[in-house]
Amino acid sequence: MPVTCVFGSQWGDEGKGKVVDFLSARADFCVRYQGGSNAGHTIYVGDQRYALRLTPSGVLQGATGVIGTGVLVDPKVLLAEIEKLEERGHEVRTRLKVSDRAQLVLPFHGPLDRALDASRNDVWRVGTTGRGISTAMADKHLYEGFRAADLLSDRVRSERLRYLIERGNRRLEALGAEPLNAEEAEAEVASWVKWMRPMVRDTSRLLLDAVQAGREILLEGAQAALLDVDFGTYPFVSTSTCGVAGVAVGTGLPPRAVVRIIAVAKAYVTRVGKGPFPTRETGEAGKRMGQTGNEFGTVTGRPRDCGWFDAVAMRHVCRLNGVDELALTKIDVLSGLDPLRICVAYDLDGKRLEHFPADVDALRRCRPVFRELPGFAGDLSAVRSRRDLPEGVVGYLRAIEELSGVPISLLSVGPERTETVLLGDS
Ligand code: GDP
Repeated sequence: MPVTCVFGSQWGDEGKGKVVDFLSARADFCVRYQGGSNAGHTIYVGDQRYALRLTPSGVLQGATGVIGTGVLVDPKVLLAEIEKLEERGHEVRTRLKVSDRAQLVLPFHGPLDRALDASRNDVWRVGTTGRGISTAMADKHLYEGFRAADLLSDRVRSERLRYLIERGNRRLEALGAEPLNAEEAEAEVASWVKWMRPMVRDTSRLLLDAVQAGREILLEGAQAALLDVDFGTYPFVSTSTCGVAGVAVGTGLPPRAVVRIIAVAKAYVTRVGKGPFPTRETGEAGKRMGQTGNEFGTVTGRPRDCGWFDAVAMRHVCRLNGVDELALTKIDVLSGLDPLRICVAYDLDGKRLEHFPADVDALRRCRPVFRELPGFAGDLSAVRSRRDLPEGVVGYLRAIEELSGVPISLLSVGPERTETVLLGDS
């Protein structure tokens, strides 16, 4: 299928990097369309671990990487990532293209992001990753953003930059934070020009031509649908449109170009930060998921809260995104837990609720209504076909398919690339 979108369907860290890497074996292009370096995708190839923040995961399989118009690009992070990959023998520089319309994260955006969140009271503090993504996004909408194309002309760059840095510094000072040395900040941005110039281009034309030529394009979502700025648990969300709706504005491809939509879901649920999480499990089972699943943030190192699979939230995401298939990851982590639970509805103040509410306070009051299923035991990492799956796994997958209304086409049984079962094929 020429254009496939793969995105996270929970609160992030579903294993999108692993799934995108696996599916990229056939892809000509792998494209990031939203988010920024606040993402952290972990990929294991043999005993090699890769943690990518901005580089599209498919480059490890040889695809051309495209950082689309909707991505907030922090060039400092991008260069460090490229250099690390090159040290490990991956020549990515010539295979990486950055949209000329992509907004850049400037040196003051990170400190501003942190100062802003620190200045909020307990009700509004979001607990951002502090990488400047939300402030760069806000500046874009305030008509004060700085785009990749602005780097390329010396005159445009210095004219726009001086004003923006000055203004950034005034905002930092107003929040009681240290301003940047303006000259150093300007010199830092100027230093990006040399290595970025060959990568910056009209990537929408590149992708449209690729679609017309029938090339395989894999679109890689970052963060996740429940962190979507409109349909997630606002205000505890990220700043972008994380689901398939973000593709058109984030790449320049027309919406109907996407022909296959895959939502990545973990077999349980995790969440970082203080947003609502109805199926959170604070007992032994939750601790075990966290330990076995190694649930610590790739970027922040923060422990993630763990809980049971939430089919109410999954239905919400599948309907909004017209999902064709689920890629279910980390099923191996549930081995040894008995019974397994899936949340089929919420109890809100004594009433049964089948839909995901908009109001985060209501969501905080929701109590999960669980269906219990028999567990399974043993090591799944060597399983490669549906018929070798234990009965407990088969029953669990069937329940998720029935409750979400979407078939599971890919099952991940371990972090490594090959630890994957294609359910359609067996
Ligand atoms: P992403 O941002 O969605 O790519 O997810 P992260 O990289 O933040 O977190 C997912 C973690 O789970 C990574 O460390 C992956 O290597 C790991 N992972 C992915 N799939 C599986 C799986 O099926 N089983 C296990 N045990 N780990 C997995």
